[in-house]
Amino acid sequence: MKRLRIKRVMVLGASGSIGKNTLAVIRKFPHDFSVVALSVSKSIDTLALEVKRFRPKAVHIDRPDAADEFEKRVRFHGTVYRGPEGLTAMIRDVGADLVVNALVGSAGFLPTVTAIECGTDVALANKETLVAGGDIIMPLAKERGVSIIPIDSEHSAIFQIVRHFRDVPIHKLILTASGGPFRTLNRSALARVTPRDALKHPTWNMGAKISIDSATMMNKGLEVIEAHHLFDIPYEKIEVVIHPQSVIHSLVEFVDGEIYAQMGPTDMRYPIQNALTHPRVLPTPFDRLDLTTLSELNFFPPDRKKFPMLALAYRFGKKGGAAAVAFNAANEVCVGAFLAGSIRFTDIPAVTAKIAARFSAKKLTVDGIMHADHKARRMADEEIGIL
Ligand code: MG
Repeated sequence: MKRLRIKRVMVLGASGSIGKNTLAVIRKFPHDFSVVALSVSKSIDTLALEVKRFRPKAVHIDRPDAADEFEKRVRFHGTVYRGPEGLTAMIRDVGADLVVNALVGSAGFLPTVTAIECGTDVALANKETLVAGGDIIMPLAKERGVSIIPIDSEHSAIFQIVRHFRDVPIHKLILTASGGPFRTLNRSALARVTPRDALKHPTWNMGAKISIDSATMMNKGLEVIEAHHLFDIPYEKIEVVIHPQSVIHSLVEFVDGEIYAQMGPTDMRYPIQNALTHPRVLPTPFDRLDLTTLSELNFFPPDRKKFPMLALAYRFGKKGGAAAVAFNAANEVCVGAFLAGSIRFTDIPAVTAKIAARFSAKKLTVDGIMHADHKARRMADEEIGIL
């Protein structure tokens, strides 16, 4: 067989949980990938290590002070980009075949747009990109002939199932949710939970933002909106089911009543490998799932009263436009405030709903999305200030 060309990969958010796992997968396939650029917010020690390992052409460090420190301390002959504009410049300057977007929050939106405009495929772990800009991103990707390949385990599962059943009409998508750390807690106790309680996820090991989003079930809400855009499926055909073991990553029910489930270990390296090698499927270098170690698989409906974020996501996702942007942005501010100890856990949905309700369904341009995002953040900050 003819040897395939090495895929040139750019990793954004390289020091986070998904970024580190991406680099761990790439190290297992030295003949298939080369890392051409890395981006971090400020973790220059991690960056220094990865630079030595992968010898990229360029790096981006968001915080200018950290970038100065990096240049002082690390021997690196490539280009160092800094600040938000630096990231856009790096994506444009350094050619890549695939951009892995593992940035946290709505900061991931503009880099995705830039990559698509450059005609580069995007492996997307940043769900906020599609929540805020799905109306723009998907048509733009189609127009430029760019693939958006999901990394999120649920969407990766659905992506793979529908790939095998390309022409079969879908009845509904079923996203599984672990239910987070507070699934069995009673509703009144939720107001008293601490950031430390909320960061203890039962099945997945993840960053702080996504762990809090999992605890409120906002994470699943964001995933519903993401699935709507990614697979062009109406909200009525997207269902969430609690599955505490997180072994089935999601399911697709086709019109004939047959349901296909995708199973695998609770380890992000599997969906990451799939996204990296797409459209190829390569043998895994990691441990395989042993079915005999599973005693049971349970499913039940989510408690929408206890976790209002899920219903809110359907409401503001359906409304779309500026309301969806604000819903995402306000939640991000609330999560930050909760982690800092300035608001209660139950304030997160209350404040987020209040801010999102002030925004319209108006469809926005790229600049409009950035503007609505900033405006919603400011409003959420003010709201938190008077709590
Ligand atoms: Mg997920």
